[in-house]
Amino acid sequence: MTTTRDSTPDAAHEPRGLDVARVEVVSFDLDGTLIDSRTAWRDGFAAPFARLAERYPALLDLGDSAHVHDRIFQKYLIEIWERVRGEWSPDYVRDGWRILLDRHAISDHAAADAAYEEYEATWPAMMRLFEDSLEVLETVQRRYPLVLLTNGNATHQRMKIDAHDLEKWFHRVVVSEEVGLVKPDPAIFAHALSAPLDIFAAPSALHVGDMRSQDIAGARAAGWQSAWINRGGAPADDEHHPDIEIASLSELLDVLGLR
Ligand SMILES: [Mg+2]
Repeated sequence: MTTTRDSTPDAAHEPRGLDVARVEVVSFDLDGTLIDSRTAWRDGFAAPFARLAERYPALLDLGDSAHVHDRIFQKYLIEIWERVRGEWSPDYVRDGWRILLDRHAISDHAAADAAYEEYEATWPAMMRLFEDSLEVLETVQRRYPLVLLTNGNATHQRMKIDAHDLEKWFHRVVVSEEVGLVKPDPAIFAHALSAPLDIFAAPSALHVGDMRSQDIAGARAAGWQSAWINRGGAPADDEHHPDIEIASLSELLDVLGLR
C-alpha cells in the first residue's frame, strides 16, 4: 500500500506517496474521520423536517428527509461556509433552516427556528464513532503520540469528545474555537506541535482527515504529510493532493505497518 516519495512531488495528480519512515506523530480530524457526524446530522434532520412538512406539504416535493438533508440542506450550509470562511457557528445552521424555507417560498422564520432548535436538541445523541475508530486509536497510540485537530464550536466538539471518552487517546486536543485558529490555516497545525510536542518537526507529522480543503490543504501548507480518508469513494480533485488516500480508517494500520 505504501510507496516511496516521488522525486517530483508536485508533478503528478496522484497521491505522492506517504513516507512512513518519517512519521513520528499522528494527528486525527474528528468529524467524518473518527465520528460519523454526517449520519447523525441526517438522522437528526428527519423529525424536524417531518414536522415542517406537515405544515408545508410542498416541502415533500423536494424528496424524502435524507435526500433533502444530503442534497439541499448541506448545500445551503456549504454556501454559508463559503461566505464565512472562518470559524463555524451553530447560528449558521439556523440560517440553513431559514434558507430551506425561504428558497421554497415559505416565509416563516419562526417555524424554521423551531425546526433548528429541535434539530440541535436531537443530533448530538446520534453521534457514533465509526466502527474501526477505537481499534485504530488504540493501536496507533501504542506507536505514536496522537493529536486531535478539529474545527468547530468548543461546546459541540467537547461534547462529542467527552461522549466517546476520546481525550485519553491524545497527547493534545486542539479545538479551533478554543485556540482562535481554523484549519486550513497552517498556524493551527503549528500550534498542535507546540510544547511539549515541539520535539517533533513539521515533516514528521501526519494528519488524517476527510476534508481536502481543510485537512489536506492545511497539512500541506504546514509542511506535514497527509492522509485523506475517502470512505465514499469521491473522485480525486486537481487542487488538493494527499500523500496517501485510504478508504477506511483501519487501512491506516496497514499503511503504518501496525498489523
Ligand atoms: Mg472532518
